[in-house]
Amino acid sequence: MNTTSDSAGGTVQPLQFVPMYQKRTKIYARSVRGLYARLRWAIVALTQGVFFGLPWLQWNGRRAVLFDLDVPRFHVFGLVLQPQDLIFLAALLVIAALALFFFTALAGRLWCGYSCPQTVYSEIYQWIELKTEGDRHVRMKRDAMPWTVGKAARKTAKHALWIAAALAAGFTLVGYFVPIRDLGPHLAEAGIASWPAFWVLFYGGMLYGNAGWMREQICSYMCPYARIQSTLIDGDSLVIAYDNARGDPRGARPRRTDPASVGLGGCTDCTLCVQVCPAGIDIRNGLQNECIGCAACIDACDDVMRKMDYPTGLIRYATSRNGVAQGLGGKEMLRRVVRPRVLVYGGLLAAALVAFVAALATRAPVHMDVIRDRGVMARLGEEGQVQNLYRVQLTNRTERIARYRLGVEGLPDVVVETPADVVMAPGESKSLTVTLALPPAAAQGRPAGAEPVRLSLTEPGLSEPVLREKTTFLIPR
Ligand code: SF4
Ligand code: SF4
Repeated sequence: MNTTSDSAGGTVQPLQFVPMYQKRTKIYARSVRGLYARLRWAIVALTQGVFFGLPWLQWNGRRAVLFDLDVPRFHVFGLVLQPQDLIFLAALLVIAALALFFFTALAGRLWCGYSCPQTVYSEIYQWIELKTEGDRHVRMKRDAMPWTVGKAARKTAKHALWIAAALAAGFTLVGYFVPIRDLGPHLAEAGIASWPAFWVLFYGGMLYGNAGWMREQICSYMCPYARIQSTLIDGDSLVIAYDNARGDPRGARPRRTDPASVGLGGCTDCTLCVQVCPAGIDIRNGLQNECIGCAACIDACDDVMRKMDYPTGLIRYATSRNGVAQGLGGKEMLRRVVRPRVLVYGGLLAAALVAFVAALATRAPVHMDVIRDRGVMARLGEEGQVQNLYRVQLTNRTERIARYRLGVEGLPDVVVETPADVVMAPGESKSLTVTLALPPAAAQGRPAGAEPVRLSLTEPGLSEPVLREKTTFLIPR
């Protein structure tokens, strides 16, 4: 420690050096069983079942989900999304943001604790660690010992399985963008000097590093959501909390001892809630930024409470404003949690979801852009008819062959001269030059100017067009 003195030789202030870098303390999370652990594993099974299964699923004779960047075209079951449909992606992002606001206001870091890929893969990696190296105390003991063949073999097995899991996930992710059945042979042939191989290794490497090595550091230091979540929750959000009033003073005591008889609260100070915490924090010190809301500490503490024959819930989901202090539960707790902020977020989320589904359901099966040919304003045809030319871009948004008849509405006597019918393969885009014509007799006496018209597309056998697009028809002087 250095000291400074002012120019008059007066007060001396000690200078303290505070390190900007905090050395990481390795966390040896203990395995835990219980209701929330089962829930987390159910979500792991669901998310990974969907993630690993979807690229192999067939739908109407083709891949159910394929993000084909070459064309570019996204197939999601019967839906074909193209660059013109980017609005749906933007809408999805808005829905995701609203869902995050809603669930955070309702119950804190639900996303982090149960379904964030970082949590899901950390859970899988911790399970591999448990199977290869044992539980917390065994791992701690072995890590403190010098290297032996057995220790090296266990660590090698763990890392080999971690890498295999990471590469499997990388392979699957790339399989969403290329034909997954050809990906294996392609990688075997092209080796690592190919783009698919690069992305498999890149994603696999990220996963191995994040879930295997960095774990809680991603959540504590790198994830922006951890920073903003404090602005989204308030005193009435459900969070994981330790009940000080019931638990303190803490202390060890024989099993099934009445806490009051020994002048203690319900907490036996066993520290199991700290040992199972993947973030390495003590929830008894209050809600902290590092807490990912995984509820492992609830499972651990409930187990202790059951063994002690005490009521469970010393650590529980509760609101910090009233739930913990007043021991609120049931309907009263629900009344506090379902407050205006939650209702507003929930209402916005429901409205966005309904609008999204409605927009998708009523989406025209074909996309049409009509651009007037600027080079040719209007011209007279061989038989004296007035002709207007348009560049029409059509995209078949379905997975079937589409046939349409072009029509024109809005100006009597104007007809489509060419082309009459269009046939498009599934997902095909076509650029057409369309000529509209006004017969000479009808053109005579019509004032010059731009008349609004609509180009329409009608499927054979249907009377109503599936799509109409506005444009103008020019009548020259
Ligand atoms: S697990 Fe429960 S009893 Fe044990 S230290 Fe944590 S709060 Fe106290
Ligand atoms: S304090 Fe509890 S809920 Fe928070 S990260 Fe640790 S174990 Fe999970």
